[in-house]
Amino acid sequence: MCQIAIYPGTFDPVTYGHIDIIKRAQEVFSEVIVAVAHNPHKKPLFDVGERVALLKKATKDFKSVEVCDFNGLVVDFAHKRKAKVLIRGLRMLSDFEYEFQMALTNRKISPDIETIFMMPQESYSYLSSKLLKEVASMGADISSFVPDFVEAALKSKLGK
Ligand code: ADP
Repeated sequence: MCQIAIYPGTFDPVTYGHIDIIKRAQEVFSEVIVAVAHNPHKKPLFDVGERVALLKKATKDFKSVEVCDFNGLVVDFAHKRKAKVLIRGLRMLSDFEYEFQMALTNRKISPDIETIFMMPQESYSYLSSKLLKEVASMGADISSFVPDFVEAALKSKLGK
């Protein structure tokens, strides 16, 4: 069965945790669309074009992965792209409550779309873009969390 999956998120910026989930997803689905939400209320550090560009670079060797941005409800975007699956990453128990609420809300809005959770390699299970930005702003070495071009982009954005 040809199955398209959408992996939505803010990706501000992409980390090895996100990349690990994309790798796992492309083993399971015939096409993975990484969908970058504009999310202005989250006040992202990188604008949506920058976040898309970093993700495209990070996934350039993956055969069946597309990266694009979207606005509005993710279930509407899924319908537009004829996808029936949303992928979300689950790191720790702390992700569960928010992800559970969101998955059930999306199911209520659109019962034909299923959310599937994937867990990253354990070493990425504590990694978040938020924490990454915090430690990077204080000058930490972030080379084990993100590809070198993301590290460079982050340093330049933070003036480091
Ligand atoms: P959002 O604002 O939608 O939460 P994020 O970019 O923070 O956007 O996360 C997108 C998805 O990737 C979420 O499902 C999140 O749980 C998952 N994710 C984020 N970091 C990691 C990680 N280190 N390992 C696995 N999944 C992750």
